[in-house]
Parts: sequence; C-alpha cells; structure tokens
Amino acid sequence: MLTDKRARPTGDTGGSLPAERTVLCYFEGEFVPLADARLGIMTHAVLYGTAIFEGIRAYWNEDEGQLFGLKLLEHYQRMAKSAGVMFMDLPGTPEEMVELTIDLLRRNGFREDTYVRPSVYKSTEAIGVRLHNLEHRFLVFCLPFGDYIDTTRGIKAQTVSWRRNSDLSIPARSKIVGAYVNSAFAKTEAQLNGYDEAIVLTLDGHASEGSAENLFMVRDGLLVTPPVTDDILEGITRTALMEIARNEMGLDVVERQIDRTELYVADEVLLCGTGAQVSPVISIDHRAVGAGRIGPIGARLRDLYFDAVRGRLPAYRHWLTPVY
Ligand code: PMP
Repeated sequence: MLTDKRARPTGDTGGSLPAERTVLCYFEGEFVPLADARLGIMTHAVLYGTAIFEGIRAYWNEDEGQLFGLKLLEHYQRMAKSAGVMFMDLPGTPEEMVELTIDLLRRNGFREDTYVRPSVYKSTEAIGVRLHNLEHRFLVFCLPFGDYIDTTRGIKAQTVSWRRNSDLSIPARSKIVGAYVNSAFAKTEAQLNGYDEAIVLTLDGHASEGSAENLFMVRDGLLVTPPVTDDILEGITRTALMEIARNEMGLDVVERQIDRTELYVADEVLLCGTGAQVSPVISIDHRAVGAGRIGPIGARLRDLYFDAVRGRLPAYRHWLTPVY
C-alpha cells in the first residue's frame, strides 16, 4: 500500500529534527515554521534539479555564550556566482543575505552547532527542461547539526567507479542541486562496499574530491590539493586550511593534479568541507595511508581549524560573525 507519511528529513548525518521541535525558516519572503514550508510537486527545481545551494555552519561557543556564523559572506558570494551560472540571482547583495541569515538564526535562538542551508531554485511550476524563462526564489533553513563524518578516528575511503561531473557536463564549481546525484552515486557505492567515504576521480583519472569534501594529501612535507580546474567545488574550508597550514604551521601548499596511486603512497590524506570539517583518511582502497592512523599534520590542521571556527584563535576571528 502507498503511504504519505510527510516524512521529516532523516539521515545518518545529524541532519534531522526532533518531532517536538519547531524551527523557523525563511520561505517565499516570510519566516515560517519549517513544517509549513512546502513546494508544489510541479516546481521546476523538483522536476529537474534546477536549484543551487550553500551549506554553512554556525558554531556554538559555550564559554562566550555565543553562536558564530562561519565565513558567511564567502558562502553568499559563492552562492551569487553559482546562481549566475544558472541564470538566477540572490534577492539581495551577499551582505544583505548574511543579515537575513543572522536574523533567522536569532529568531531560532539556537545555542548549539547549527547547519544553514540557503537555496535559489527555479520556482515556476512547469514541464520543460531548460534554464531560461523561468522564475526563481530564495529560501533558507537551519537545523541543529553535529558531525557529518568522523573527525577523530580516521576514515576509510574508496576511489569509486563513478567519475566526477566534468565541467563540460555539469560544472562542479557551482553548487547545483542536480549535480549532487553524482555525489550520491559515489557515496552510496563507497558505503555499500563498507567504506566511510568516496574519493572521486576526474574523467582523465586524477583525484578530484570526496562526495562532498575537498581533498588534501601530504607528501614529503608538502600539502598538495587538486587545482580548481580538476572539477572540484572551490571549497571555503579548502581555502581556510591552506591559510592555516601556511600561517600557523609554515607548510608549503601546492595546487596540482594528483594521481590515484599518489594517494596510496602519500604520508597523509584528508578530506575537508563545511559538513565534513577536517576528516583524516587512514586507508584508501585497503591500503594504509602512512602508518594507518591519523598523522601529525592532519591532526594539527584539524585541531587548529576547530579552534579557529569556535572563536578560540584571535587571528581568525574575522572568519566569524557573532549571532547574538
Ligand atoms: N566539494 C563538494 C562536492 C561539496 O559538496 C563540498 C561541501 N560544500 C565541498 C567540496 C567543500 O566545500 P566547502 O568547504 O565550501 O563546504
């Protein structure tokens, strides 16, 4: 029998909401309870994946009784670019979108780590796949959110058989909703095979990124990451880690293509992203990375990153917007 349970979002990611909790979102120009924000089944974005989005974190600092939005302006600047690629725009400047987001977080009164998910979507209810001559709208919701993948034990990754969307088919540098089916194929292949996470190669076989994370490897004391021309999302965490690595650890950071088997001989590998944060990889395709445990550079980068995003490092306070 078919049922319509109005399922709440669930997953293994902390991205669900307890039934008793009401959370406000911003939808169709108003602040409304999340449960009341519904899209018509003929919405173009639902039919064809024609939407773009951002994933943003806000970190709770218990000592200061403060919630810090992380790199909010950078996320909305990237979002404006993603929208432009899809013939859409934001309803205001990136600065105004930051203000709106702070307003939403304040109205919700969160005193815990929070995930913020703004989207611009093709809102016209119409059949007909295209990008032009369609209306678009903006929404943003937020949820309490813990770790997306492990950051403490080290994860096991597989280079999956699926290839990253090429820039010639769906550009990875724009956060296009439909493109995430590629990530879903990758993640599911890895997880059903017993791994924690996928590493995805470009069409010509170079390491691109994880299912929703950028990738770094350490070789001979150098921190190496694929260039922005290897079908990656130009990650905000990626930039943050490069800054920390250079400024706090004196590491040289190189952007260059990475062969698959370089990952097998690397001293360390890590994945990073807003959701993933900093997640050291301890094995790839059944080969131990380095000594098969979290390495010193990955551990240090992760710890510095967590200190920075929670407001414990004065040099990086400018990354943060206090909500209260
Ligand atoms: N790559 C992909 C495919 C992603 O979805 C994400 C998460 N947004 C990242 C990389 C990491 O990007 P960021 O650090 O900006 O969250």
